[in-house]
Amino acid sequence: MIRVGVFGAQGRMGAEVVRAVQGAADMELVAGVDAADDREQVSGADVVVDFTTPDVVLDNVRWLVERGIHAVVGTSGFDEAKLTEVRAALTGHPGARVLIAPNFGIAAVLMMHFAAKAAPYFESVEIVETHHPNKVDAPSGTASRTAQVVAQARANAMAEPMPDATTSELPGARGAEVDGVRVHALRMAGHIAHQEVVFGTHGEILTVRHDSMNRESFMPGVLLGVREVAGLPEQLTVGLEPLLGLPPTGE
Ligand code: NAD
Repeated sequence: MIRVGVFGAQGRMGAEVVRAVQGAADMELVAGVDAADDREQVSGADVVVDFTTPDVVLDNVRWLVERGIHAVVGTSGFDEAKLTEVRAALTGHPGARVLIAPNFGIAAVLMMHFAAKAAPYFESVEIVETHHPNKVDAPSGTASRTAQVVAQARANAMAEPMPDATTSELPGARGAEVDGVRVHALRMAGHIAHQEVVFGTHGEILTVRHDSMNRESFMPGVLLGVREVAGLPEQLTVGLEPLLGLPPTGE
C-alpha cells in the first residue's frame, strides 16, 4: 500500500485526488490537508500530491523534501526560477523525488507531443486556450509549456520567423508571447480546460485540439505519478512524458 497525503484537499482538484486515492486498491489516504490545517497530518505519508496555489507550493515542496516524502505536484506556475529553487531544496536529500507535471491529462501530454511533431512543417502556429473563469493565472501552464515545446521544435528545425505584418494593435490583441509563440487565453463560464494549437501553411491548416471534460480526466495521470514517483531516476522530473515512455518535451 502506498500511503498518500493531499495538499489542497478542499480545492477542486484536491477533492478529486482524495476521491481517486480512496478508490485506488493499492493506496491509502493518510490525510487531506487544506490551508487552515496542520501539514504534520501527512507526516506518515510516502507521497503527497499538491494541488494548491502558485504562491504556497514551493514552501510545501521544500517541507516535503526535508521530511523525505515524495511530492507529486500539479500546481501551476513553475518557471525556471522556481525549478531552480526545487533543485536547490533537493540537494542533500538524495532519496527525495519530486514530480512536477503542468498537466496530468494523458491526452493533453499526447497533444503536446503531436504539436511538437507538427511544428517543423508549418509557417505559423498560435495557441488558443479556454478555461473556467475561476482560474487565476493566464496563460495556463499547459499553454505555456506547449508554446515552449513548439518553439523548441521550430528552433531545432531552424524554422523561419512566423509571418506577421501587424504594426498597430490594441494591447493584448495578438495575445501573450511565450518563446515567440502567441498564446490567447479565454476565460469563460461553462468551460473547464481546452486548448487548440493551430498550425498554418500555404493551403493547409492543422488544428490539434484537446478538451478536458471534467477533473476526473487528470486522475489516471495523478495516480500513475503516485505509483511511479519513488522509482524515478532523477530527483526532479518535470512532465509526465518519461512515465508514458515518450521523449521529454523539454522543461
Ligand atoms: P482551488 O482554488 O480549487 O484549490 C486550491 C486549494 O488549495 C484551496 O482549497 C486552498 O484553500 C488550498 N490551499 C491554499 N494554500 C494552501 C496550503 N498552504 N496548504 C494546503 N492547501 C492550501 O484550485 P484548483 O482548481 O484545484 O487548482 C489548483 C492548482 O492546480 C492550480 O494551480 C491549477 O492551475 C492547477 N491545476 C493543475 C492541473 C494539472 O494537471 N497539473 C490541472 C488542473 C489544475
